[in-house]
Amino acid sequence: MDASTLFSANVLLLSIFAITFLAISFQVSPRAHFLSWSAANALLALALLCFALDAHLPDLAAYLLPNALLLLGFGCHWHAARQIAQLPSRISNVAAPASAYLLVASTAFLLSDYALAYIASNVVFTLLAVLTISAYATAPFRGLLSPVGLILAFFFMGAEGVLRTVHGLLSGGPQGPGMLNDMTLDIHLMSALVFVSLTGAFSLALSFELIARGHKEAARRDPLTGAFNRREFQTRLEDILQGSPEEDFGLIHFDLDHFKEVNDRYGHLAGDEALVRITSAVKAQLRQNDCFARLGGEEFAVLLPSVSRDNAYKIANRLRECISGLRFEFAPEDFQLTASAGIYHGDGKALGSTDILQTVDKGLYKSKKAGRNRVSFADPAPEAS
Ligand code: GH3
Ligand code: MG
Ligand code: MG
Repeated sequence: MDASTLFSANVLLLSIFAITFLAISFQVSPRAHFLSWSAANALLALALLCFALDAHLPDLAAYLLPNALLLLGFGCHWHAARQIAQLPSRISNVAAPASAYLLVASTAFLLSDYALAYIASNVVFTLLAVLTISAYATAPFRGLLSPVGLILAFFFMGAEGVLRTVHGLLSGGPQGPGMLNDMTLDIHLMSALVFVSLTGAFSLALSFELIARGHKEAARRDPLTGAFNRREFQTRLEDILQGSPEEDFGLIHFDLDHFKEVNDRYGHLAGDEALVRITSAVKAQLRQNDCFARLGGEEFAVLLPSVSRDNAYKIANRLRECISGLRFEFAPEDFQLTASAGIYHGDGKALGSTDILQTVDKGLYKSKKAGRNRVSFADPAPEAS
């Protein structure tokens, strides 16, 4: 393929991706990274058009514009990766690398030192590729496949940037303000085509993976409190039972006391607020691998893997005290919301998840019957052998 065919193929693909990401940005939320991807592709398309038409541009524009647009495009890719990862990222992230290049390149132009500008553009280009790779390597992308494709694409471009920097250092770079127009041009354009295809395809794949992950997460959560829902809780419990636990586990089932009165006295929204507050307070008391769920209404449960009977009791009591110690804006200072709990402790052998939930309910019933604001085991303590 000759250079002009390669230029056209690159510009065509980039334009298609720019339009596609722009169209998607109107349909989904959050949309910011789709806009950044769209801008990245549009700027790279413009950069390549400027490279192709540099003979028709005024000297200074032909000299500065293509690389500045290229670096702005790469800045947008970096910005998009940080937006998805929810890392702090401002529009200055996009503009700073291109501005640094413009500063060096304008000085170089005045000094007629074209190699300096060539090297500066490639150093900034490589740096942006490395920064984008490091953004896609952060925790929010773990467990997803498409960031690996994006990392490969930017690694490929970063390697190209290093080669061009070395080439600039060894050969002295271009001898005039225009682009290097030697035999390496076709290779660079082929590489660009690979990069454009990879980033376009894997960015789309990443969007799909992120949306799918969002749906999966939503299906495990209670929409009001953000705690796990009953289905997820039961799945975790079944996982423990099927894994034939070596160590005993604990299950605490909480029911808020006289919660109907909260709604009746302070309104349903106040009741909702209390449920949200209780969830965050209880979550803060638990370990990373404990599973806290809202089973429904004003009922919550905690699954405690590998815990002693004593500790299960202590944890249940600590959570009960934590709830009764909460103060709410909607109620007077002396208002106290309490909870009663039932505890199951054992290895769950020969029991299904439904049996365990029914068993623990007996403990909860005991607590309610004994006057509320207390915790009770579903079964009596086993005899010491
Ligand atoms: P007890 O001590 O016997 O458990 O009394 P209770 O009032 O807590 O129990 P009851 O089962 O009579 O009432 C539960 C109340 O929980 C009734 C219902 O309006 C309220 N509730 C359930 N889900 C929600 C919710 O999502 N938001 C609000 N605000 N209230 C809820
Ligand atoms: Mg209830
Ligand atoms: Mg209740």
